[in-house]
Amino acid sequence: MNNQGRATRAETNSASDAPTFTGNKALQIEEALSFEFGDFAGTGVDMPAPIGDVDRLGGLNRNSDIGLPGLSEPETMRHFVRLSQKNYAIDMGPFPLGSCTMKHNPRLNEKVARLPGFADLHPLAPESAVQGALELIDQLAFWLKELTGMPAVAMSPKAGAHGELCGMMAIKAALEARGEDKTRVRVLAPESSHGTNPATAVQCGFKVETIPADATGRVDLAALKEKLGPDVAGIMVTNPNTCGLFERDIRAIADAVHEAGGYFYCDGANFNAIAGKVRPGDLGVDAMHINLHKTFSTPHGGGGPGSGPTVLSDALAPFAPVPYVVQEDGKYSLVESRRAAKDEGDGHESLGRLTAFHGQMGMFVRALAYMLSHGKDGVRQAAEDAVLNANYVLARLKSEMTPAFEGYCMHEALFDDRFLKDTGVETIDFAKAMIDEGYHPMTMYFPLVVHGAMLIEPTESESKRELDQFCDALLSLAKRAKSGDVASFKAAPVYAPRRRLDETAAARKPVLRWTPEEPAKAAE
Ligand SMILES: *Cc1c(COP(=O)(O)O)cnc(C)c1O
Repeated sequence: MNNQGRATRAETNSASDAPTFTGNKALQIEEALSFEFGDFAGTGVDMPAPIGDVDRLGGLNRNSDIGLPGLSEPETMRHFVRLSQKNYAIDMGPFPLGSCTMKHNPRLNEKVARLPGFADLHPLAPESAVQGALELIDQLAFWLKELTGMPAVAMSPKAGAHGELCGMMAIKAALEARGEDKTRVRVLAPESSHGTNPATAVQCGFKVETIPADATGRVDLAALKEKLGPDVAGIMVTNPNTCGLFERDIRAIADAVHEAGGYFYCDGANFNAIAGKVRPGDLGVDAMHINLHKTFSTPHGGGGPGSGPTVLSDALAPFAPVPYVVQEDGKYSLVESRRAAKDEGDGHESLGRLTAFHGQMGMFVRALAYMLSHGKDGVRQAAEDAVLNANYVLARLKSEMTPAFEGYCMHEALFDDRFLKDTGVETIDFAKAMIDEGYHPMTMYFPLVVHGAMLIEPTESESKRELDQFCDALLSLAKRAKSGDVASFKAAPVYAPRRRLDETAAARKPVLRWTPEEPAKAAE
């Protein structure tokens, strides 16, 4: 049955084109689901039956099989290690995924985060027992405010998108306090914005309107001004934007929105390009999330973990969510509820609670370790090197590939698919061929403002040697595409554990649950 299961999977996924008996390709082991090879009657632990049969479960005993595959410890270890080896990781090679800032995660951060005093904390421990942890949150908050030039920060949001939710809820609360939440219903967002921006605005009950980009890939200021009015709650603008460009008119944008009575939400996911160089507070920002997992280097990918502290202007600070850390006479405590906040005459307009506890403590530790080990000059240099690396990639690739816009970029280089015109090769084929070359593909088809987008963000972590090899590989692929070798691109990847998957079906009809085979079939 096990082998049958494998064969079926191999056929449907074209998984195993390896000419080996096992289906393995050298050290790439074909791995079935634990449900497919586990023994449902077995268990990995061997314990004597309990003595006596006192039933303390009040009749709630399980009356069916638990339905989990029984694996021994070595089987379990191997299963998960093999699965982990199918994963590409920043610890294996460059991860040029634009907009994601996949930089190296210094081991020092990991070491500090694993100190038992941080790692073993319980979120319900009494304040007196966790003074150090509260001080750490407070210190990190201090540096985030310092770096952004903003007066307040909400630490609890657990991702960039969650920080957007926090910021937009603060805007909503501020409008409510002004009695304008029913009339200011529109939020403006540029065409190039990250999908989370309009999604957040809609989640908060706003109507989203798109601002077109101008010919240089930036917000069209005139078009923006035309859309402003007494029904606008605010704008959501990413800076540097998702084309990898600094919004030169950012001050004019902020002023125009403020004049119209709206708020300026800045998506700060790309803060890595400007940290230590530009303070968003000086640009007129009212709220901005910072992706600690991007800019301040904590491991992320595949959807988590994340941490999205959100800085707030004076106008929005009163609406910050609880809990937050306060310090009095060297003693730290948490304001946990709106009522408690009201009693102290502070934060009574808080929008409430966004998460069960205080935020992502492990990521706070890593982010502060990163900041303190880099120092002021180091954070600034990281931003400068990130921009330098992206411009190096842009300069090296532009002989064969087509940059989407003229001029220098910030931390990421955006190409469109004009260089593939009439080759039969599309952006997706190009990306798949990169997998065979041992690279994680760049971000594809985003932002939407250019055709067949390829967004490359090398980050400051890559050495010149690494960048050169990456650029050489891409240049050779571009030349190969232009030479008429469509077939090899359409077949790629040929060396990966899985070839082309039906990505539409995977998105539209994901199979997220293993279901047992029919008993009759299983018994055969
Ligand atoms: C990553 C990113 C986000 C979302 O952040 P998450 O932590 O993934 O929720 C939002 N906007 C931009 C521009 C991003 O790059």
